[in-house]
Amino acid sequence: MNAKPNPSHDRYDAIVVGARCAGAATALRMAQQGMRVLAIDRSAYGSDTRSTHALMRPAVHLLDSWGVLDRLKEAITPTVRTTAFYYDDEVIEVPIKPSGGVDGLYAPRRTLLDASLVDAARQCGAEVLHRVSVRGLLRDTNGRVSGVTLEGESGAHRELHAPLVIGADGVRSNVAGWVEAETYQPATRRTGGFYAYFRGIDRPGYHWYFLRQTGAGALPTNDGLTLVFVAVAPERFERAARGNHAERKAAFLRILQGCDASLAAEVAGAEQVGPLYGFPVAFGFHRSCSGPGWALVGDAGYFRDPLTAHGITDAFRDAELLARAAADGSPAALASYQATRDQLSQRFARITDEVAGLAWDTERIKVLHRDMSREMKRELEHLQQLSPLEQWPDARFTRANGPTTLGPLAIAQ
Ligand SMILES: Cc1cc2nc3c(=O)[nH]c(=O)nc-3n(C[C@H](O)[C@H](O)[C@H](O)COP(=O)(O)OP(=O)(O)OC[C@H]3O[C@@H](n4cnc5c(N)ncnc54)[C@H](O)[C@@H]3O)c2cc1C
Repeated sequence: MNAKPNPSHDRYDAIVVGARCAGAATALRMAQQGMRVLAIDRSAYGSDTRSTHALMRPAVHLLDSWGVLDRLKEAITPTVRTTAFYYDDEVIEVPIKPSGGVDGLYAPRRTLLDASLVDAARQCGAEVLHRVSVRGLLRDTNGRVSGVTLEGESGAHRELHAPLVIGADGVRSNVAGWVEAETYQPATRRTGGFYAYFRGIDRPGYHWYFLRQTGAGALPTNDGLTLVFVAVAPERFERAARGNHAERKAAFLRILQGCDASLAAEVAGAEQVGPLYGFPVAFGFHRSCSGPGWALVGDAGYFRDPLTAHGITDAFRDAELLARAAADGSPAALASYQATRDQLSQRFARITDEVAGLAWDTERIKVLHRDMSREMKRELEHLQQLSPLEQWPDARFTRANGPTTLGPLAIAQ
């Protein structure tokens, strides 16, 4: 958006640091409840980020209930109607049964997904600033977080105030560092890998490969492209990531060949569109996600290895939970946000840790996938049982004219 910060207020109900899938979704849900919210991101509107982007059923359910799914469909994001799992001894194809607003799964490009969430948040009255960095937190005399300091591209600084500052600033969250959020349940295993986009691969549906100590996948996305990724142990990734572009591409194809020769042959004959991306993965963790005047959402608060492709889905889930807790405004509601997040994510994190270890045999990985499916079902049921949010009929009108929830949030001090 703007090259320098020019928000219309200097006091908000909440300031969200980061405006991608966690931050923009949180801002959207708060704005839909009539809260005055500002989201700030140092990256550009509609910019890409290093991530594959398979959405699971709970994410599609939420996008539909937020009114964002139609935007993705209008942008011709392919509907995924089957998920195929490739093991050493068999291929299991699972149909995606339409139910409750979910007609299939989707893997929208992040350029589209993140921008669509920002557009929806703005339409509901949230303010969103891009190319602006948050440089630090403000605190009141009791040490409670009470706002942020910003720096625009021109170097201009500004202070903005809010009774709640939300870190949606990713795995290396500055906000988590500034509030010294406690870290727990650290992961012990992680992967590294490569991905790229290809034209000319005709594989509708999600395809997941788990064999020979390798994970791989093919996901149909926008513009007729298919995203293909491989994930291996970090030491193997580091060896493969050395060298020039041609050497890295050759290493990517070798890993794919060792995993599934038929996918490797299709990729070798397809046109690569854009660069080959390498991704060394950080170890997973949970962090405390609420405290006096602050909260964390998305990767900032909970990170797991991307091999189980669940980070965006969890970011949406936690945005929904946090926006509800923030509207309530009480310390108890924010504490319960953390308890619910942990209750829904800790088992999934343990499963992810074992999947990312790549030390399973065929029988074990099938068990892990069944466990994952059970956890996802539990997550979806939790979201479906939430009572409908009290939504303002026209949030933009409301924000300019109606009351905000500053009262309840102020009481939380
Ligand atoms: C290789 C890879 C593949 C993945 N594949 C999948 C997948 O298939 N499916 C899935 O669901 N998940 C996947 N994930 C996980 C997913 O990408 C993350 O869970 C998701 O991006 C988390 O979103 P977020 O909004 O929390 O953080 P991010 O997307 O990291 O956004 C954080 C934002 O905060 C901004 N920011 C940071 N600090 C500041 C600051 N001080 N001031 C202003 N702005 C700031 C950054 O610019 C950034 O835009 C993958 C991840 C990786 C690395």
